[in-house]
Amino acid sequence: MTVTVAALGFPRIGPQRRLKTALEAHWAGRLDAAGLQAQAAELRALAWRRQADLGVDHVPGNDFSLYDHVLDTAVMVGAIPSGYGWTGGPVDLPLYFAMARGTQGHGAQGEHETCGHGCAHGAPATGLPALEMTKWFDTNYHYLAPELVPGQAFALTSTKVVDDFLEAKAQGIFTRPVILGPVTFLKLAKSKDKDFQPLSLLSALLPVYAEILQRLAVAGADWVQIDEPCLALDLTDFERAEIRRAYGALTHAAPRLRILLASYFGTYGDNLSTAANLPVDGLHLDLVRAPQDLDAVLALARDSLVLELGVVDGRNVWRADLEAVLDRVEPVVAARGPDRVILAPSCSLLHTPLDLAVETALDPEVAQWLAFAVQKLEELAILAKALNQGRAAVREQLDAASAAVASRKTSPRIHDAAVQARAAAVTAGDATRATPFAQRIVLQQQRLSLPPLPTTTIGSFPQTAAVRAARAAHAKGQMPDVDYADFLRAETARAVAWQQDIGLDVLVHGEFERNDMVQYFGERLNGFTFTKHAWVQSYGSRCVRPPILYGDVSRPAPMTVEWWAYAQSLTDKPMKGMLTGPVTILQWSFVRDDIPRGQTCRQIALAVRDEVLDLEAAGAKIIQIDEAALREGLPLRRGDWDAYLAWAVEAFRIAASGVRDETQIHTHMCYSEFNDIIAAIGAMDADVISIETARSKMELLDAFEAYAYPAQIGPGVYDIHAPRSPASGEMLDLLALAGQRLSPAQLWVNPDCGLKTRKWEEVEPALANMVAAAKAAREQL
Ligand code: GLN
Ligand code: ZN
Repeated sequence: MTVTVAALGFPRIGPQRRLKTALEAHWAGRLDAAGLQAQAAELRALAWRRQADLGVDHVPGNDFSLYDHVLDTAVMVGAIPSGYGWTGGPVDLPLYFAMARGTQGHGAQGEHETCGHGCAHGAPATGLPALEMTKWFDTNYHYLAPELVPGQAFALTSTKVVDDFLEAKAQGIFTRPVILGPVTFLKLAKSKDKDFQPLSLLSALLPVYAEILQRLAVAGADWVQIDEPCLALDLTDFERAEIRRAYGALTHAAPRLRILLASYFGTYGDNLSTAANLPVDGLHLDLVRAPQDLDAVLALARDSLVLELGVVDGRNVWRADLEAVLDRVEPVVAARGPDRVILAPSCSLLHTPLDLAVETALDPEVAQWLAFAVQKLEELAILAKALNQGRAAVREQLDAASAAVASRKTSPRIHDAAVQARAAAVTAGDATRATPFAQRIVLQQQRLSLPPLPTTTIGSFPQTAAVRAARAAHAKGQMPDVDYADFLRAETARAVAWQQDIGLDVLVHGEFERNDMVQYFGERLNGFTFTKHAWVQSYGSRCVRPPILYGDVSRPAPMTVEWWAYAQSLTDKPMKGMLTGPVTILQWSFVRDDIPRGQTCRQIALAVRDEVLDLEAAGAKIIQIDEAALREGLPLRRGDWDAYLAWAVEAFRIAASGVRDETQIHTHMCYSEFNDIIAAIGAMDADVISIETARSKMELLDAFEAYAYPAQIGPGVYDIHAPRSPASGEMLDLLALAGQRLSPAQLWVNPDCGLKTRKWEEVEPALANMVAAAKAAREQL
């Protein structure tokens, strides 16, 4: 009887992002279906073997996916929306990828469009639409939302979960199959019929789950991991009752299987007694996000319930404090017995990079603080050995871990007394503009003398192949600094001249020098480091490589002033200073776990504030601070929203509030759901906000209207997520809709988001049309 180790899920993109390469070769017609499947099988085999070698006892099965595990679940239960021409039977790759990515015309694929960070935005413009894509809980992973209809029929349509189990078994690896649970599946589903509750389909869905469990039992499976992360959300009594009903039925259907129910990303909270009393055999706890769940569950759980303790952070890159974990887990093992305890990461390792060992260029001091997926499994193996054989058996490893923890506590690379003192000394005054908006705007208008309905863009212009090639050549040392700078200056000058020619009122420099809106700033701030290979799947073949924010943040030197000044020197029109906001920088990085996120955010805010003030001193009359990720930072539970919004809004205000009244602060948010956060947006007290509205037909402005939002707004009139250039009439119609909800004096005219993913051929006519629409609208005022 020993304590065992489970993994919940492993990065599926593979070493060197091999799945990405294979998928993209397949989509480009360079790799046939059999070739793709062969490579996928190889990656699965590699992952299974690797985990087994690392000492994982419960190696996950079925966690691999060619695109997304929620889509796989929809396919498993036959939830293929009508419109894809499916008439039953197995789902082939073309159909699978059509649901994932849509199709365009003659078989050409139309990938989901993104705004730089893998933030997905809807479906391609023509051909079959893809399923809607949404963020998986509070991660940066995106799943495809199942689309269900009233009366939806379900049928077992894919046996991937069983096939995977047998595939691994043939390789000598006995896996614990992972299935997305029926309640979470239904809760993630969408319906075109807004009044329809997909959860009402539970009774229809359960028989398919029962069948798949029975087949797994026949195939010889022992444990099955069923993920119900909806248990980390606020649930209604009805939903909790449905969970009880579901697991009553499923355990009855496959009595020989042992079900491990897994929720993660947060506390069970008020769902704990539901979860702990289900007739399942094991329960996974995310003890990184919710350490308090351990005592709570110990007080409730029957003796026979196996507890899977998620003690290693699956959402972050830090090495664990192994001795501290042991201090907590040893009494549990002593009380319940080793065979009732499984050790695991807090959640699937899908959300961490694969292997630290390939990061050979990292600073060794920083590297010793880190653990990626492979290292996290090593940590779990050490912990299990310590529990099974005593700490002395792994003394050296424990000491090394403790030394790393101690070094993080004291390293001057992390701890900067000046930064901490400055953050501690922030006053309410530092986070407040000197005068209210109504007075500021008068001074700003006098200074800027813009026409009504002023036109502008969100910041970036197309990152063309030439721009990307120059950046790559420069990064590889093949293009000297001076040549690269000359190239970027030429691109910027061309963009500025063109904006002036077409008659835009407020110009941007185009962001050609930026690889990414967060990385660019992280590379110029103290406290950040960057990896070469630490990719994390965002969706499908898309991966992001988040910066690692390890220490106190400060700004050694101006980050954007030179580019701004150069661009402004080319024109008499106002040139916007362009910055990424503190919440967005925080949200799109791996963040330190030794101080609260809000504190880190405040440090970033102070660094951004320094930049804002330097831009102002250099002459910038308008400075935009993008907060693209403010909304996605909302915690999973409503009860935690206020605390988050308080520090997030304060961080923005710290960044923005140092300027004089006549300096105009813009912000930008690229999404279209504001009802929940409109008061927070108001509290940010920006002078102008630009938002995404083109596809919602300005409906989201209702939130601003109802709130009586006082400041200025640029509701996007050009949907930049589709490769088409809207005519000016279309944009004029959108402006008219906006004018019905807000006073024309409040309105700006701009696209939905930055234009970096577009082509100049699309941008040129679109923006010219946008300027024409604004002119026409002015005449109607
Ligand atoms: N200024 C950025 C750009 O235009 C904003 C992008 C974003 O919000 N995603 O690219
Ligand atoms: Zn945007």
